[in-house]
Amino acid sequence: MTKIKIIITFIYILLLCSCGIKQEYKSNTKTIIEQNTNNLIAINYPLTNIKKIDKQTKNYVNKIYNDFLKQYSKINYPNKKYELNIDYEYYNFADNYISIILYTHINTSNDELILNDIYNYVYNLKTNQQISITEFIDNNTKNLIFNLLFENYGNLISMEKITNINYDTLNFVITDNNLKIIFKGDDICDNYHENLDINIPIEYFQELKKIKPNNQKIINNIKPTINYIDINKKVVALTFDDGPSIYTNEILKTLEQYNCNATFFVLGNKITNHSETIQEMYKKGNEIGNHSYNHRWLTRLSKEEQTEQIKKTQEIIETYTGFTPKYLRPTYGSINQSLRNNTDLEIVLWNVDTKDWKYKKVDTIVNNALKDVKDGSIILMHDTYERTSEAVKILIPKLIENGYQLVTISELQEIKKLRKITDEIR
Ligand code: ZN
Repeated sequence: MTKIKIIITFIYILLLCSCGIKQEYKSNTKTIIEQNTNNLIAINYPLTNIKKIDKQTKNYVNKIYNDFLKQYSKINYPNKKYELNIDYEYYNFADNYISIILYTHINTSNDELILNDIYNYVYNLKTNQQISITEFIDNNTKNLIFNLLFENYGNLISMEKITNINYDTLNFVITDNNLKIIFKGDDICDNYHENLDINIPIEYFQELKKIKPNNQKIINNIKPTINYIDINKKVVALTFDDGPSIYTNEILKTLEQYNCNATFFVLGNKITNHSETIQEMYKKGNEIGNHSYNHRWLTRLSKEEQTEQIKKTQEIIETYTGFTPKYLRPTYGSINQSLRNNTDLEIVLWNVDTKDWKYKKVDTIVNNALKDVKDGSIILMHDTYERTSEAVKILIPKLIENGYQLVTISELQEIKKLRKITDEIR
């Protein structure tokens, strides 16, 4: 274990050295690795050559180190072994901000967590002052943080805890691309002790965007893009069934043009032929749902056949995107108890039908959507018709003009939850 840590540390130092050459404030890693009869210690922390910052880091590390040796000494615990770990992240953003975050863990030898501590500071090098996250966040950002926590950790977080978050004291770092906020599991979850983080792209913050260096390398991120959603504004979810097809790309382009997302309920047997399309779909932040393998009438099938239809499709989607769909749109909108019992996926129907399979005229399809749409609607379309891809070009700007935000099914569900909580708080 210790050996691995030394190797990792070594690689880390190498990486830091090779990546940081251009930086004026290059950081060095100071490493302490100790092993004695009673404890294991692996500490890494950054030194920046800026006295004020380094002093603050050393003070923290020394305190943790000394307390640990005192507390978990052989005299106190003759038969137990303890492990102290300190790791860090260091960022220099545009020679304007230095961010340091130190993660401390103390564990017993059987991996029981005793202490999880975060020590964080961000310096503005221009003013030579330590800053807090309050410089960057307003009420919209708070909403966004709330949304991102739900999106990423909805199954872990505690409602009560996150409604009581103190936004002024959040731990954060400014990386090359994001303002990253780090939470201790215990601060936002009932039963999760590891740290959790969320990322808000730099572009979201005017003052950071202005100074972002343009020589940054573009990182190919497989994670879908994030859209900011205001829970107080109307929302609508466009859904497309039966694809992907040769018309899907055109729809993806239109969605991107208006900076919004939709949900595609795909058929398993079409994916291999449109693998690039489905990857693009996912990368752009759209959601993928399951619509069976080859559009069999699911409620008429045996339990085994149903399972096969759903499972095969899940697997192909996972293979091409790494994403596991959460939603099933049953073929023909047909549901029965046997299907409900037979799948873990949440069944999602629609409440606005454009009947794009029936009507050939683009205007009719658009009007069918617009005449019935309201806040929270789910609109049914099919990305298997050229006319649908044309209709979308008219429908999307119309919806936006009418005050709607276009969201995925997951986002729609989240917003419903958030609105409920907000109502309860009020
Ligand atoms: Zn269908």
